[in-house]
Amino acid sequence: MKNPGTLLLFCGPSGSGKTTIVRHLLTVRNDLAFSVSATTRPKRENEIHGKDYYFISVDEFKKKIDAGEFIEWEQVYQGLYYGTLQEEIERLWKENKTVVFDVDVQGGQRIKNIFGDRVLAVFVMPPDIHELHRRLRARNSETPESFGARIAKSEKELGYADRFDKVIVNDILEKSLEEAERLAAEFLDTKH
Ligand code: 5GP
Repeated sequence: MKNPGTLLLFCGPSGSGKTTIVRHLLTVRNDLAFSVSATTRPKRENEIHGKDYYFISVDEFKKKIDAGEFIEWEQVYQGLYYGTLQEEIERLWKENKTVVFDVDVQGGQRIKNIFGDRVLAVFVMPPDIHELHRRLRARNSETPESFGARIAKSEKELGYADRFDKVIVNDILEKSLEEAERLAAEFLDTKH
């Protein structure tokens, strides 16, 4: 196995473009696999259970908390739980993959604390707060309440960028995708 037990972590505010970056990396590198989180958030129209998330009820989520199945979990928004399953990471490592995460800043910090040097933690930064608002609005997936909650959380999260190994300022998407590829290569193809 080339890079046993390695992880790539992408964090950043909702609307920063981290999910686009993660999806891109997964298409260009076949040594990566996405850690599918569990969530109690309602499924969006374009999402697939087992691919984007494991969509489960709050009851099921709480049972998994009690059973110690999460390496980290977070009530990211009021009443909406998200968590990383231990089993998911083990499953992907068994397939000889580097595990890729798209989690919030708190979750990202936890994962970094647990796995240390085996993780490359990247913060994806929007070029400015107005652009972040615009992207969230354009996505059109939010109610006025959830939009407000996402903006508030995003503004707070921007202050955590310096706790990460690397920062990508996602202004021009093409450049950010190249930068993400370069960072992944630097970490996986040279370091280990
Ligand atoms: P969304 O609802 O837009 O898919 O995700 C909302 C936020 O939850 C994003 O910042 C996303 O990265 C984060 N998130 C997704 N899965 C997890 C997880 O397993 N743990 C944590 N802590 N955050 C997650």
